[in-house]
Amino acid sequence: MAYDYDPQNIFARILRGEIPNDTVLETEHTLAFRDIRPQTPHHVLVIPKGAYVCFDHFAAEASAEEIVDFHRTAAKVCADLGIGPGEGGNGYRTVSNAGLDAVQEVPHYHMHILAGRPLGPMLSHRD
Ligand code: 5GP
Repeated sequence: MAYDYDPQNIFARILRGEIPNDTVLETEHTLAFRDIRPQTPHHVLVIPKGAYVCFDHFAAEASAEEIVDFHRTAAKVCADLGIGPGEGGNGYRTVSNAGLDAVQEVPHYHMHILAGRPLGPMLSHRD
């Protein structure tokens, strides 16, 4: 896999404790924290603690334990926020940007959890 992880990216620095964050949930393999520029009333970023650039890198190379922990942590965040439709919540959207076309700003895999207001169509901009 042709990924060259940059250990100076902002999320790597958050994981090393060099930059503060507003943690929502933390496990052995995963950290969930609030986005610094929230686009919705609830805007949480879920990241693995391992050095993965984006979704396909993580899915291909992370251990099963890391992958399960990542998703269970994201689910726990949804449960804690009360946004899961199965629990009577109004729902949410998960987004993971990868690479140039998706305008990935931070080259450390992350899943956005967006919720707290109607989110509209999945993609609002078309060329
Ligand atoms: P991307 O465009 O890579 O999918 O999203 C990166 C996200 O990281 C953006 O929503 C941006 O607001 C968030 N972000 C960038 N720097 C920081 C930071 O230092 N702290 C936190 N909590 N979020 C950040």
